[in-house]
Amino acid sequence: MRILLIEDEKELAAALTAALGKHGILTDHTAHLGDAVELTRQNPYDAILLDRRLPDGEGLRFIPELRRTGKDTSIIVLTALNAPKERVEGLDLGADDYLGKPFLVEELMARLRAVLRRPPSLSELKITAGRMVIDPLHVSVTVGDTPLDLPRRELLVLAALARRKEKTVLRSTLEAAVYNYEEEIQSNALDAHISRLRKRLADAGAEVSIHNIRGVGYLLKEE
Ligand code: CA
Repeated sequence: MRILLIEDEKELAAALTAALGKHGILTDHTAHLGDAVELTRQNPYDAILLDRRLPDGEGLRFIPELRRTGKDTSIIVLTALNAPKERVEGLDLGADDYLGKPFLVEELMARLRAVLRRPPSLSELKITAGRMVIDPLHVSVTVGDTPLDLPRRELLVLAALARRKEKTVLRSTLEAAVYNYEEEIQSNALDAHISRLRKRLADAGAEVSIHNIRGVGYLLKEE
């Protein structure tokens, strides 16, 4: 799962990014509304976490701006402005949920799961390939009935490939699924993830294989 965090408190943003990372969630972070619109154009997000008091204005005005571009991405407002009237304001402007600061990461996770459950979004659907079932929302993979413990990045690559099984997935798409825009991607990092994944999948008897389409990307096939 990949989310956009719009938040100007640096420490909170860093702590949240780390905490969400532990749940297998990839976070792109910006402190500016201006960048946020552009980021949603460039990347598919499963959800957006939005602060209200931001250096370039009231966070809530981002909501109609985003909706105008035709995107219905779930938005959770995270803010210290938590009076009943302020919550009504946020929800009426189209936020899917509203959480007052301070909050527990566990509660944020529960609310994320709740908003992603509402429409049957792509990120929620379980993906099956061979003997393998991937649950992107709970960040888990099972082969048969046995859980397969994968490092987060390998799981993200696997989910991106399995979602489009039998089709070639571009290298750039796979890299976007695994790295946020601030991270530098080493040219052979993706190939290293794939080679470790192949071995783990073979060892687990997943009955899928990952094929290299030279210079283009990778393709996952059921065996
Ligand atoms: Ca703020």
